[in-house]
Amino acid sequence: MAYQTINPTTNVLVKTYPNHTDADVEAALDAAHRLYKSPWSKGPIQPRLQVLERLAYLIDARKEELAQIATVEMGKLISDARDEVWIIAEIARFYARHAEKFLAPVKIDSSLGEAWVEHHPIGVMLAVEPWNFPYYQLMRVFAPNLAAGNPVVAKHASIVPHCATVFEELVNEAGAPKGAWKNLFITADQVAKIIADDRVQGAAMTGSEGAGSAIAAQAGKYLKKSTLEMGGNDVFVVLDDADLEKAVETGVFSRLHISGQECICAKRFVLHETIADKFLENFTAAMASVKIGDPMDETTKLGPLSSADASANLAKQVQRALDHGAKLYLGGKPIDGKGNFFAPTILTNVTRDNPAYFEEFFGPVAQIYVVKDDDEAVTLANDSRYGLAGVVFSRNIERAKALASRIETGAVWINTFASTAPELPFGGVKRSGYGRELSELGIKEFVNQKLVLVA
Ligand code: NDP
Repeated sequence: MAYQTINPTTNVLVKTYPNHTDADVEAALDAAHRLYKSPWSKGPIQPRLQVLERLAYLIDARKEELAQIATVEMGKLISDARDEVWIIAEIARFYARHAEKFLAPVKIDSSLGEAWVEHHPIGVMLAVEPWNFPYYQLMRVFAPNLAAGNPVVAKHASIVPHCATVFEELVNEAGAPKGAWKNLFITADQVAKIIADDRVQGAAMTGSEGAGSAIAAQAGKYLKKSTLEMGGNDVFVVLDDADLEKAVETGVFSRLHISGQECICAKRFVLHETIADKFLENFTAAMASVKIGDPMDETTKLGPLSSADASANLAKQVQRALDHGAKLYLGGKPIDGKGNFFAPTILTNVTRDNPAYFEEFFGPVAQIYVVKDDDEAVTLANDSRYGLAGVVFSRNIERAKALASRIETGAVWINTFASTAPELPFGGVKRSGYGRELSELGIKEFVNQKLVLVA
């Protein structure tokens, strides 16, 4: 796979990046392992936290430049790119300020003596990451692992090499020692060899089920721990007592955010039968009138998909849904002209025997379902192979909370869209993956939680 920047707004090739050789990979693993064995990884945490503080400062200072690089490379709106740059600085700061507390020894009451759990680094980590949040995905792995003392070698998606390069530059400029983070432009075979290497102790992956399954299988074969975040088919439940105006506005935003290419965004709209017609009417009007265009234009609300392949695959997926009986309520096709623009799309009548019922649509395609009560909403929500996130809209918070507790996902948001923050754990169940990133839970995924007991 060639590592290339191709602007998805124009499909113009901007730059090709050379792949790393096996010798480069060996040098990266050697440097990372040496660092793991050094006092940098195993000694006091403060020098590592200082790197994170400096990194946050450097990111803030180059916010606009970083945002523009991401927009050119994968097509997200410039305002969303700025938000992403903002949050990666926040994640770096969050771990700089809280990691010491998270990794402090924890006492345990035991009948056998004085006992506690210490947190130690485990060794070199591998990160395999996607293009949709080209900095945030890297920071989710880098910041907690740097704080914990685990060096990381990273394979980013082949369509965002500029983001990968600039992230590595920032880490180095922040004072991270050689080996703490190494970006590698490598193939799937080279990734497999890295997982097999004895110096590597864990793998964190975000992306498609196919890639996740391949990496988890390789990690399992060599008895390495892995975390996986594979996306979802998230419900957006609107109950009969919801604030409809807010639900429509939030639903449109959530379905179109990052051109619909966000793992936690709303995909299946589950509407109570008494408000379904009204919601669908207003939702359709809002989806149809959204301003589509250049993601650098501050007034644009829907930019292109990340690649020509992504657009072609989504078009095939929509056609397959229609062939199996779904009705096209809006859109349904790529938009003619340059760039990978796809029309906001609404599908109704998606029955359980339609493959679309179980598939994630990674683009601006909403599926509409109508239910008669809360129980039916829960049944529909849980009739999914995925389990990442979900949203419930209701003015009755107790009712919404009860429903949220019954949805089988890693997270549920009430009366707002699914989002992220450094202090909130992120991850799913079922085919959405396992393990958590961010928060205190995230930093504890790849540490040795070592028991010490004094009799
Ligand atoms: P992929 O899963 O193919 O890509 C994600 C990362 O995995 C990339 O770095 C990719 O590298 C790498 N990768 C892919 N296959 C392997 C492998 N066998 N061994 C090692 N690394 C591998 O996602 P796509 O970009 O192809 O998107 C396809 C679908 O994946 C989307 O439609 C969506 O459903 C899902 N997805 C979910 C995301 C999420 O946030 N949960 C993010 C992105 C995609 P390379 O780029 O070189 O292929």
